[in-house]
Amino acid sequence: MYKTSYYDDFKCIGSECPNSCCVGWEIDLDINTFQKYRDLQDNNIYKCISINQKPTYDKFAKIKKVNDQRCSFLDKDNLCNIQKKYSEKLLSPTCSNFPRRKVDFGSKQLSSCLLSCPEISRIYFEDNEQFKIIDNEKKLVDTNLKIIPDEFRNNLYAVSGERIFNFFYKLYNSNDISLEKCLMITNQIINEFSNKKIKPYKGNEVFEYVKSFFLNNKIEKKIDTELQLEFLKKFFRCFQKKKINNKLSQLINKLYTDCFLNTDIKKIRLLFEKNKLHNFNKFLLKHPNIFKKFFIHEFFGKTQLLTNEEIDSKDGFYLIFFIALVSKLILILKTLPKDQIVVKDFIEVISLISRYYGGKDNLDKEEKELVYKDNKTFENLFYLFFG
Ligand code: SF4
Repeated sequence: MYKTSYYDDFKCIGSECPNSCCVGWEIDLDINTFQKYRDLQDNNIYKCISINQKPTYDKFAKIKKVNDQRCSFLDKDNLCNIQKKYSEKLLSPTCSNFPRRKVDFGSKQLSSCLLSCPEISRIYFEDNEQFKIIDNEKKLVDTNLKIIPDEFRNNLYAVSGERIFNFFYKLYNSNDISLEKCLMITNQIINEFSNKKIKPYKGNEVFEYVKSFFLNNKIEKKIDTELQLEFLKKFFRCFQKKKINNKLSQLINKLYTDCFLNTDIKKIRLLFEKNKLHNFNKFLLKHPNIFKKFFIHEFFGKTQLLTNEEIDSKDGFYLIFFIALVSKLILILKTLPKDQIVVKDFIEVISLISRYYGGKDNLDKEEKELVYKDNKTFENLFYLFFG
């Protein structure tokens, strides 16, 4: 098994959590957990469960939600009544696994956690350490992960995906390669890969060629605050149409009202640009690799994007890029009233955005339309992110 270096350090902070996973989500119960709860013969527990209309093995029932979308097992201190009254062992797999995620290759598994858990984001982003992978013996694996086990190595697509991941692992951890270049190289490799132009035995040659091409090319960037604000406004409206009630929707509603409704947009533009060029850049100087850490973490947590031919690796990459883009722009907008941006602000925003978008394989149609223009999704994401 390979896992992220922080994996074993995680401990749920329960009632201290700023955005408990027990609020706002549908929590499914598999048939085994349902039977265990029924056998407790505790009406206070049983009344919190409803059997699904079309029960399946994994989704036999669900836990009812009460006021403010809270799980009905939660007490007033945000502690779980099942754990408190009975035992952690009685939690459903959905609850006991969260925020852990696993990519399963049979005899090999890759384990990481979801950044939607604020505590995971905190332990991962709070320091400036690079992204690290460890094995079962907790030894650092710094190169050439063998992700695809022997029994599947005749799947050339999966083996190529493994090579690409190993290449990305080194690329995103290189201190002397900027995020811009990493993303250009990633885009080119994913394009060649999904167009089946990379022959598995030629992988490393092609990767090195693409890398040297982009390292030797200057990338033109231009500041475009107007474009970024226009995008954010459209994104907020798109999100509001989903009629969701969670912490992200509350934040979006507030920012939309404060910054785009009945406000002097010229003033907002000036403040946004000042915050971006001053406070955000200062924040990046203190945490130069924070977005590179985000990207490589998500490539590891979703390695199937690269190894499973059925999944569109380009769409998966655009989704990860979209989460980074929206997080960056919301972070700048949200911190307009502050005189500095700190890592806590970043953690709050990235975990909120990841909570809604992180579990998906690709963007919803509405979000795709926001960044899909002239068939140039990557370029649009890139110029919005670095503008
Ligand atoms: S989001 Fe994470 S820290 Fe918060 S309650 Fe859930 S598992 Fe615990």
